[in-house]
Amino acid sequence: MAHKFSFYNTLKRDVEEFIPREDGKVSMYTCGPTVYHFAHIGNIRTYIMQDALIKALEYCGYDVKRVMNITDVGHLSSDADTGEDKMLAGAKREHKTVMEIADFYTKAFFKDFDAVGNKRPDVIEPATNCIPEFIHMVETLLEKGYAYVAGGNVYFDTSKLEDYYVFSSAIEKEQLAVGVRDDVEEDTAKKNKTDFVLWFTKSKFEDQALKWDSPWGVGYPGWHIECSCISMKHLGEFIDIHCGGVDNIFPHHTNEIAQSESYLGHEWCKYWFHSNHLNDRAGKMSKSKGAVLTVSVLQEKGYDPLVYRFFCLQSHYRKPLEFSFEVLDNTVTAYNNLVKKVEALIASDETLKALSEKCKQDKASEAAEATDVAQVLEAIRNSADVDQNVKKEFEDKFADAVSNDLNTSMAITLLYDVLKADTNAATKLALVDSFDKVLSLDLIGHALADDSADIDPELEVYIKDAIERRAAAKKAKDFATADAIRDELLAKGVEIKDTREGVKWTLI
Ligand code: AMP
Ligand code: ZN
Repeated sequence: MAHKFSFYNTLKRDVEEFIPREDGKVSMYTCGPTVYHFAHIGNIRTYIMQDALIKALEYCGYDVKRVMNITDVGHLSSDADTGEDKMLAGAKREHKTVMEIADFYTKAFFKDFDAVGNKRPDVIEPATNCIPEFIHMVETLLEKGYAYVAGGNVYFDTSKLEDYYVFSSAIEKEQLAVGVRDDVEEDTAKKNKTDFVLWFTKSKFEDQALKWDSPWGVGYPGWHIECSCISMKHLGEFIDIHCGGVDNIFPHHTNEIAQSESYLGHEWCKYWFHSNHLNDRAGKMSKSKGAVLTVSVLQEKGYDPLVYRFFCLQSHYRKPLEFSFEVLDNTVTAYNNLVKKVEALIASDETLKALSEKCKQDKASEAAEATDVAQVLEAIRNSADVDQNVKKEFEDKFADAVSNDLNTSMAITLLYDVLKADTNAATKLALVDSFDKVLSLDLIGHALADDSADIDPELEVYIKDAIERRAAAKKAKDFATADAIRDELLAKGVEIKDTREGVKWTLI
């Protein structure tokens, strides 16, 4: 039996108990990135909170299948079908083809997505893979009378719906209607201001790079249609949870519901999970604002991506979160303190201590039969010293926290409670490991990798600074300086290595 689970359902404007269609099983759809630029740390906040939701559901006994799209066509610079195609703008900016842009930024996205401890969705589907499915849905909507052709495009006719603004209260509906009436941008082909494009034809952009044959002329799909189709392709006619950032509520998710339910003839998705934005001091972070702060940039500056995850998990997903380097620096200190506490726990257990020392030595000497972190984890999981009653008590509290509208900050408080608790090291470590199924902070892995225990703090500051200077030199293509910094470090007994997870250093 799965644990009772509740979260805020935007459709009901309230925290609701989650009841999936099939007992214990969850089908979930996530709006993926538009791959015309790097995903900034705000976008990644959204994916971290979704990852926490999935893992919390799994912790509570649900089996989750998750599908995500990659938007590589059709998303215009305004979500309301006006402006330029974002992918085309990216290609022009970088003098590359649209597919090169899509490929490059998809890879960059997943590098950062993985680095913050996220689990990949079960299915990842680029929009350009599904053109026949889009055409089929548009054809059906035309046949059913929910769509019309005008000015070369196919539009969804929102006047055919009794309730178009499904996410809004009565007052908000009034305000939205006024907002739409006052909208200055006018598409004269639309019958109603709220109508949206299902299929663009060549009438919109002559220089559109990606276009396909369709019954309505050569063209390309609108942005909203892709999520409806990709979700149905892999999850069928019903989904339990649809996720996105709050900016997706209107018009994107509103339009997804309009077309999906008109096409299917029944309710499509019962629960809508929206996470709030990350802002910097200047306001909402945005890809189109110029310099993009990414997880990779944080890494280049010497921050561990999991510290950023820790930063996100400390606040509630429904609240806006302000980013600053001061707060991130405090998070680094808090994270390192946790690692040290876990290290001390490992050191207090004879078996684990021996294993962990072997682990560190093997790593330093790159021994062929390296003691894997997995071996230490196995020892923690199988330890006979764990007090099962205490473990169960804390695990229940943890499940209560994460199932209560995804209270991740409470989950972290419980982690501190465990470390302070009046119980033995084996039990504490077993709980740190258990909580990590949701938190994914890898404290044990970091404790095993931590070779800074006896290092002089001044040397540590120097190493971090040198790594930053080297990254800056490499960025400026000044490889001579970068190499000189590497040699300077070597002369001080510090070896650095560039790895997929960033720059790693060891004392030699
Ligand atoms: P995009 O690639 O622009 O389609 O956005 C990818 C995801 O990031 C979407 O679910 C957005 O809702 C979300 N998002 C966009 N801006 C922010 C932000 N500043 N903070 C958090 N999430 C965001
Ligand atoms: Zn979507």
